[in-house]
Amino acid sequence: MADRKRIYLSSPHMSDEGYEREYVGQAFDSNWIAPLGENIDGFEAEFAAITGAEQAVALSSGTAAIHLALKCAGVGEGDRVICQSFTFCGSANPIIYQNAIPVFADSDYETWNICPNALETAIKKHKPKAVIAVHLYGLAADMDAIISLCDHYGVAVIEDAAEALGTLYKGRHAGTIGDYGVFSFNGNKILTTSGGGILTAHSSEMADKVRFWATQSRDPAPYYLHSQLGYNYRLSNVLAGIGRGQLKVLDDRVAKKRMIFDYYKRELCGCGDLEFMPERAWNQPNFWLSCITLGESGRVGDIIAVLEAENIESRRLWMPMHLQPYYKDHDYVGSDVSETLFNTGLCLPSDTKMTESDLSLVCGIVKEVLSR
Ligand SMILES: *Cc1c(COP(=O)(O)O)cnc(C)c1O
Repeated sequence: MADRKRIYLSSPHMSDEGYEREYVGQAFDSNWIAPLGENIDGFEAEFAAITGAEQAVALSSGTAAIHLALKCAGVGEGDRVICQSFTFCGSANPIIYQNAIPVFADSDYETWNICPNALETAIKKHKPKAVIAVHLYGLAADMDAIISLCDHYGVAVIEDAAEALGTLYKGRHAGTIGDYGVFSFNGNKILTTSGGGILTAHSSEMADKVRFWATQSRDPAPYYLHSQLGYNYRLSNVLAGIGRGQLKVLDDRVAKKRMIFDYYKRELCGCGDLEFMPERAWNQPNFWLSCITLGESGRVGDIIAVLEAENIESRRLWMPMHLQPYYKDHDYVGSDVSETLFNTGLCLPSDTKMTESDLSLVCGIVKEVLSR
């Protein structure tokens, strides 16, 4: 163990070909270190071509992209926004940035994402301006059901696809189906720019608004004129260069994540009450993290501890927002699905640099703990 490298949940994985260095090098050579430049334009265009998004705007983070998606949807002070409770806090915090009121909705076991029944109940009760549906762990949410409800009640749909680059829902890329889509290039995501995000939209008017807000809302004038509140949310041209290189290996990364999931499934299926995250016919996930559930919470803690002792990273599933101390006073619609997933779930190491012997080691440990 002593000289084996740590096995990670999901760490940055640059291309073997060195594409990222080439694009970053071009930024240095042309001195387009900042602010915008060719890599930003290229990153946005190449991203749109790969995902089928009509418009893509590169931003400093996924959280910034959610913030500006809420602004696009007209969310302001006192408005309600329904957010999937089972998610990372980056989905929900921008609701507070806009002085709006979050309402959390439960997930279902079929998708692990927002439950259409809970969503409809929450919409009727709160008359929200927008809904934030998440494609958690790269599993696609039930978009047809979500969109038909939101169309019926006139609510904007924001897809948080931060974890879902490479995921297809009925053949369409997750994050390009609703009114707005959000992607993250944080260090632990399937592709990374060290930090960054993309907001997708359907009209160039909206994309231009996002670019305007993200560069301090600078009005066209020969001096610094501002008629609206602005933000410093654009991605740097250097980091966009990393993103362009990373996009070239997206298919390889998805294939490896899928291979990791299949390996775990083959080795661990049928071990006690272990179950895998749900796969659906209409869902082609990117398998960002391979997740399992066990019958009880204690077993999850045991596995995490034994893996950690072997210098292997694993983690519980996201703690739902309605259980977070910061959000405990906000309304929650649903039952105990997200809470049960949190209590009994585990993310297995899913790093695309893992070897077969790493995978075999992890499976051996999990099996050993479950046989106790
Ligand atoms: C990572 C993540 C975000 C936030 O993205 P950042 O780029 O880290 O700001 C939002 N939502 C989900 C579900 C995420 O996993």
